[in-house]
Amino acid sequence: MIFALVGNQNSGKTTLYNALTGSNRHVGNFPGVTVDSKAGEIRGAKGHFVVDLPGIYSIRPYSSEEIVTRDFIINEKPDGIINIADASNIERNLYLTLQLLELQIPTVLALNMMDEVRGNGGTIDIAAISKLLGIPVVPVSAVKNEGITELIKTAVDTARNRALPTVTDFCPSGPFHRCIHSVSHVVEDHAQRIGISRRYAVTKLIEGDDSGFIGRLGLSQNELELIEHSIVEMENERGLDRNAALADMRYSFIEDVCRLTVVKGRVSRERLRSEKIDRLLTNKTAALPIFFAVMVLIFWLTFGVIGSFLSDLMSRDIDLLASFVDRGLERYGMNPAVQSLVIDGIFAGVGSVVSFLPLIVVLFFFLSVLEDTGYMARVAFVMDKLLRGLGLSGRSFVPMIIGFGCSVPAIMATRTLSSERDRKMTILLTPFMSCSAKIPIYAVFSAAFFPGRSALVMTSLYIGGMFVGVLTAMLLNKTAFRGKPVPFVMELPNYRIPSFKSVVLLMWEKARDFLRKAFTVILLATIVIWFLGAFDSRLNFTENSQESLLAAIGRLIAPVFRPLGFGDWRIATSLIAGFSAKEAVVSTLGVLTGAGVSALDATLPGMFTTVSAVSFLVFTLLYTPCIAAVATIRRELRSRLETAAVVVGQCLIAWVCAYAVYTAGSLLR
Ligand code: GDP
Ligand code: MG
Repeated sequence: MIFALVGNQNSGKTTLYNALTGSNRHVGNFPGVTVDSKAGEIRGAKGHFVVDLPGIYSIRPYSSEEIVTRDFIINEKPDGIINIADASNIERNLYLTLQLLELQIPTVLALNMMDEVRGNGGTIDIAAISKLLGIPVVPVSAVKNEGITELIKTAVDTARNRALPTVTDFCPSGPFHRCIHSVSHVVEDHAQRIGISRRYAVTKLIEGDDSGFIGRLGLSQNELELIEHSIVEMENERGLDRNAALADMRYSFIEDVCRLTVVKGRVSRERLRSEKIDRLLTNKTAALPIFFAVMVLIFWLTFGVIGSFLSDLMSRDIDLLASFVDRGLERYGMNPAVQSLVIDGIFAGVGSVVSFLPLIVVLFFFLSVLEDTGYMARVAFVMDKLLRGLGLSGRSFVPMIIGFGCSVPAIMATRTLSSERDRKMTILLTPFMSCSAKIPIYAVFSAAFFPGRSALVMTSLYIGGMFVGVLTAMLLNKTAFRGKPVPFVMELPNYRIPSFKSVVLLMWEKARDFLRKAFTVILLATIVIWFLGAFDSRLNFTENSQESLLAAIGRLIAPVFRPLGFGDWRIATSLIAGFSAKEAVVSTLGVLTGAGVSALDATLPGMFTTVSAVSFLVFTLLYTPCIAAVATIRRELRSRLETAAVVVGQCLIAWVCAYAVYTAGSLLR
């Protein structure tokens, strides 16, 4: 059987999903971390699956992640719903519950975060609330793994017995009751014909639905008029418009239920603590400086202290291994072409890219701590005002921060934006946030041209990227994306100490992704580059790469980059290779200079001046996102033309900026 896991954002759905299935999806103390759905088998219940869905506040969807959830429930018809509610916030969470009840699908309510409720001296009368809502209710604590077995058993039993919610009428008398009654009478047969609960159809008719659902009911003109008449009559009698009347009915019902069953504890310790921290961190004057200080600290720790130290250690070990293998192959008398492939190709390319792994993992560590503590949500809030000036809202800020890690999840995270305009604009701007795959490029060039000042170089590049992003946003706001961003509403979660497990898992996941990329895309790119660079046009093995096939191709493209200060064919080639994955820029340079990445700090000064090196860094910072990111953009924008425009546009911007930097730099010298 299939169970849909449905609940508000940040109610603990993913934590519960992990507890139910024993898997390790990413949990974040941030609304909107889950933007796609994912199914997994329930532990100890063979053949039963649960689907983790994005969080929603109502079945009337506004953003595309909410549509994912609604469509799943309505179209896939799960055998049961596990409705997870944050018990420390029960009134708001029950609003969704009431709508789920209308669907007439076997439903269990899992009251999560019971540990916090109990800790603050609150109680909830489970038997009574279950009776009032007409569905089984199970108290759980997803993080503490409490009540999970009970929940599984209850959910499976409920679905197996096809036990439908028994309460569907939330106001037993009055004008609204009469209205529901008469509309219900009209749609009864139609709803039955398409296999949808009558009560749900009534609600959709009252609130007016734009998803084509009403059309599917196949009501005659006459019937539609009849329904409209009942609704207008109710509006007049009630003195409220239809949506207000609907909301009012739901809230009064919830109020009654809570009055009878919930004893509130004292204001939670977590809340009080959060408010105290917020007085400092989101304080009007201090908030922005604090945020910038935090970011600088993170970059400094990553690129100046911890990450760079670990990377150096790792690159030394890889060099040792390479020379060991080299000597082994020499002694064995291996064919020189194969030896060259292994040493000059694979070790020089993939091997040395791998040495940047620690930098990337450390950066992800800090980003995930920002997110898990709840600080990121505050930053979005603080940034809202600034972003509004650019025609964006605070919500857009989160995908951008994620973009420092990788553009692919960042672009996917834009699904939490409810307006199409805001979403598109954010997608276009995310690639300006320098992703972690570019770190090897920056690191190698800092070492070669600005030894000892890599943290400064990195920070300037990141800020430079944001700066160009801001200019682009201003331009877009005045041209293609005229209009106002939607108002920013986001619930601020309490600050929490990040869970050790969740942080370690995330780091492990990122390390795995990176290694996978190193040994697939980058390996392939390296081998292709090595091959094209080691053979000439008659496929003779050549020691002189100047005569190689690659040199011939590279020379064709190189003139494009000559005005930027780097007309060497090897550089042009590395930029092309970087389209497969940004790390390939460095691995390609390593292969083509013949000495590997670790020797680049010695070989690069022969190819670049300091000014052209800066121009090259600016170009790599801004030029087209890698193929994986482009594919994601294409999927999210659903337009080939617009995607092509992004790629071309970014290359143009990169070229112009690099040209400006190079010209200015050359004049100043
Ligand atoms: P989702 O957005 O609904 O998927 O929620 P998540 O699973 O990402 O959890 C949101 C936050 O609530 C995380 O910081 C969790 O650690 C925390 N959380 C989840 N379940 C519980 C619980 O039972 N008790 C407490 N105290 N915290 C929880
Ligand atoms: Mg989630």
